[in-house]
Order: sequence, then structure tokens, then C-alpha cells
Amino acid sequence: MRIGAIEGGGTKFVCGIGNEQGVIEDRISFPTEQPEKVMEQIISYFKDKGVQAIGNGTFGPIDIDPASQTYGYVTTTPKPGWSGYPFVETLKQAFDIPFGWDTDVNAAAYGEAVWGAAKGLDSCVYFTIGTGIGVGVFSEGKLVHGLVHPEGGHLLPRRHPEDRFEGSCPYHGDCLEGLAAGPAIEKRWGIKGSELAEDHPAWAMEAYYVGQAVTSTILLLSPKRVVLGGGVMHQKQLLPMIRAEVTRNLNGYVSAAPLLNDINEYIVPPGLGENAALCGSLALGLEAWKSVND
Ligand code: ADP
Ligand code: ZN
Repeated sequence: MRIGAIEGGGTKFVCGIGNEQGVIEDRISFPTEQPEKVMEQIISYFKDKGVQAIGNGTFGPIDIDPASQTYGYVTTTPKPGWSGYPFVETLKQAFDIPFGWDTDVNAAAYGEAVWGAAKGLDSCVYFTIGTGIGVGVFSEGKLVHGLVHPEGGHLLPRRHPEDRFEGSCPYHGDCLEGLAAGPAIEKRWGIKGSELAEDHPAWAMEAYYVGQAVTSTILLLSPKRVVLGGGVMHQKQLLPMIRAEVTRNLNGYVSAAPLLNDINEYIVPPGLGENAALCGSLALGLEAWKSVND
């Protein structure tokens, strides 16, 4: 079986073709320009490829309510040209096949649950800490949707006592994304995160903020695993620092063996590496195919 996958990111789109084992057999990527241009490239890539369904994991906010008139649309993004773009509908006009549709981070959480670091578990939370911060939630065997979809990147952390940076989120200033995404690190310290030394105080502050968000997530959703991905997590020293912050914050309160004895196996990097969202989109495509063929 050949299933298409689209990972729509803020900086680039990745399209791929994979099978029901989660193996990506072919892929291309191109920059996130105006939607018409992106869509033209998507359509020309999948044309003649014989895919039986396509799954999409796309940057949000997006409309994922099947009962809504604007289901499949990108909604209020400040990204030029994208607000109100009928993404799924445009694809449907080109291909008469089933489509899966969710956020890029929900797709990544799903990919990790089906084939990655949370394989076999019925819940996990996926954080991407990159140009923005996004949180995907898989719970009781399903991706979590509600009023819209989770927007955990904009949680409001307690400020670090030594942090004088006002925060860079255009909506909230010092929310999690405004304090801890890649661009916030660069603005606060005046140098790109990738160029900061491993022992720079930036990383303790980063772990302080991400650690709080992970703690809140554990308290609120009780996921069976937490997966941390995104460009900022390329700083290998961060993961153990975040685990230590979570342990400190929880202070033994949540009585669960993975938190008390095995946090290294509980807060983990993506099992699928950079492919989490693309594989998750593939899984969404497979699910869409099954929903009409089973
Ligand atoms: P995106 O979020 O756009 O999909 P990434 O997940 O790759 O892409 O995140 C890009 C962000 O991660 C940028 O802000 C960049 O500065 C930051 N970043 C990338 N590599 C590193 C690194 N090694 N150390 C710290 N920050 C990094
Ligand atoms: Zn915000």
C-alpha cells in the first residue's frame, strides 16, 4: 500500500510516500511560501504516484472539526496568505482519496505512539521546541481535540527570577513560546541558541521553563510518556536538565514508578527522530484510508 504524508511546517513543507509499516520510501521538501505555490508543488508531487490516501500534519491554528463549514482550513495564522486557506478542500479537488488532517504536533505525537518512542502506549505528549513551541496530545488511544486543538506552546510559566527578557510571543509576551522557543533564546542572549556554549546559563533557564511545562502537562494529562523534539533539543545537555527540573517540581507527589525511578525512560527524545511528524502524517493517512475501507 502507498500512503501519502504531508508535514506542513512554518518554514518548510515535507511530502513523502510510505507504507503501512511506517517506512518512508520517498520524500521532497520545499519552503513554506504562499499557499497556492505550496499546493501546486504538493499536487505535482503526488500526481501519478498512486497513493491511496494522504495524511496531513499542518502548522496551526487549523480547523479540525469535521462538522464545521471550514473543516480543513488554516484559521488565524499570521503567516502571510495562509489565514483562511482551504487546505484539505483544495487537495480534494485534485485527488479523489481519503485525507487525514491534524496539527503537525498532534501528528508527531501520533507517529511516536504508533511507531516511535511511545509505541504500544495509549497515551503520550509530544513537545516540539523549535521556531515555535507546539504540544501534541494522544490520550486513551486518540489524538485530543476539543474546542479546537491543544495549544500547549502558549502555557504561562512562572518567571525565572533572573530573567529580564520580556518575552517574544506577539499574543502573550512571556508565555512558554515567548520565553523558550529558539527565537526567544536568540533575542534574550543576543546570539543564536546553536552558538551558545553548552554550560551557558541560557540552558538552565531553558530547562526551568520547559521543565515547568512538562510538569504541568504531567499533572493535567497524566501521559504515559513525554517526548521532546525540535531544533532546540539538539542541545544534548538539555534533556537531563529538564528531567531534573521535572523531578524537582513534582517532588515525589505523583506516585508512579516511571516518574520516581525511571525518568530517563519517561521523558525521551523522539524515537522517529526528525521523522516524527511525517510518519505521524502517514499514520493519519492510513487511518483515513481504513475509515472508508474497513
Ligand atoms: P521548526 O520549528 O521551524 O520546524 P526546528 O525544530 O529545526 O524547526 O527549530 C528551529 C529552531 O531551533 C531555531 O530557532 C534554531 O535557532 C533552533 N536550533 C536549531 N538547532 C539548534 C541547536 N543546535 N541549539 C539550539 N537551538 C537550535
Ligand atoms: Zn503565546
